[in-house]
Amino acid sequence: MSKLLPVRGTHDIIGEDFRLQNYVIKSALTVAETFGYEPIETPIFESTDVYQRTLGETSDIVNKEMYTFKDKGGDSLTLRPEGTAGIARAVISGGLQDNTPLKWYYSGPMFRHERPQKGRLRQFHQFGAELIGVADPAADVEVISMATEFLRNLGLLSEVKLQLNTLGDFQSRKTYRESLINYFSDFKDNLSEESQVRLTRNPLRILDSKDSNDKEIVSGAPSFHNFLTPEADSFFKNMCSGLDNLGIEYLSNPYLVRGLDYYCHTTFEFISDKLGAQGTLLAGGRYDGLIPMMGGQSIPGVGWAAGIERICMLTQMPTEEPRAICVIGLGEPGEKEAAKIALRLRRSKFKVDLIYKGGLKRGLRRANKIGAVAAILLGENELTNNNVTVRNLDNGSQTEVSLSELDSHLAVYESAKLVAE
Ligand code: ATP
Ligand code: MG
Repeated sequence: MSKLLPVRGTHDIIGEDFRLQNYVIKSALTVAETFGYEPIETPIFESTDVYQRTLGETSDIVNKEMYTFKDKGGDSLTLRPEGTAGIARAVISGGLQDNTPLKWYYSGPMFRHERPQKGRLRQFHQFGAELIGVADPAADVEVISMATEFLRNLGLLSEVKLQLNTLGDFQSRKTYRESLINYFSDFKDNLSEESQVRLTRNPLRILDSKDSNDKEIVSGAPSFHNFLTPEADSFFKNMCSGLDNLGIEYLSNPYLVRGLDYYCHTTFEFISDKLGAQGTLLAGGRYDGLIPMMGGQSIPGVGWAAGIERICMLTQMPTEEPRAICVIGLGEPGEKEAAKIALRLRRSKFKVDLIYKGGLKRGLRRANKIGAVAAILLGENELTNNNVTVRNLDNGSQTEVSLSELDSHLAVYESAKLVAE
């Protein structure tokens, strides 16, 4: 049989990597809870329609990246490429439109068929937050503030820059679109093939092009800020002053358009310069058109999603894992007693590694390998005396302790305890 490998762009997350990922997610949900948000989990697959219509026919996701398949009943399903569309669907399906504002956070795997590279996977994880039902720019300020606190708690705030832009309202986008078509038409033959297609279908997306030639042409393009309606302009200014009020620093980037069609007004990204082209750690924006586009009431929303893998690449765990205590029973009666002692210590929150058959030597080898602090040995002698031998694995000293005094003797190994949640 040929060697079995994980599917390209997916990976197994084991041990320390898993702990780091959990730590990052836990930090995020703690922050979200302090903002008064509630957890939500939507299914990992949805009807293809949920994404097809809403993300936009010209978006990278719909065009090239969706894992779409027919199930045994012939329905077209798609593995979720992002969280917001499913959540908008949940608002409508659950009849929650009259319960706004809805303040939600979520976390889980997402699937996109793109070219795998560092920080770009086919199955990756996002943590996200959505504030649904508030049209005021104060909502944008709140979700950005939550993202800022999340990154601050991980020690990443000094590593990232918040970039900000506005995509205005429908009217602003209409006039801007025309001026972009005018501008880019003059350079049509020099644009990348992809951008030539975008020119008629969605010229705004040219601003987001990664092609270096396109980028040069984009640098001379008219700025959206000159095409904003007075309402859209004042929305943006209010939002910026809300950020100033909280001391949140940002840079205005008039070419930040984001890949999805459902965005309007605010768009933002927290970007690090340490991860090359995969430097966006967290991105979001306002999506007032999304729920009505899906056939729901006209309910506005704003939110963001963070790429957990990219954040993990920059994050250090603040505390070391506790070291285990190994319990080694010798012979059948010793093993039985060892299992009972292991359970007793586990109930006191010690991290315990129970050694199975193989004798003292193998047991101690395993204890050293996993970096245990101490080994508890139970041989025939110990059993007859109702004792155990505790060996300190850092200095090799051994003490025989009666079973009833074991707990107090182990007090020196407090560092082997898991911190209670
Ligand atoms: P990019 O421009 O890097 O493709 P995007 O605009 O497609 O990102 P979003 O849809 O905004 O990304 O997703 C939010 C975040 O999720 C991104 O900022 C990134 O941190 C993370 N992310 C997106 N796609 C991937 C992927 N394929 N692998 C790992 N993380 C990803
Ligand atoms: Mg992408």
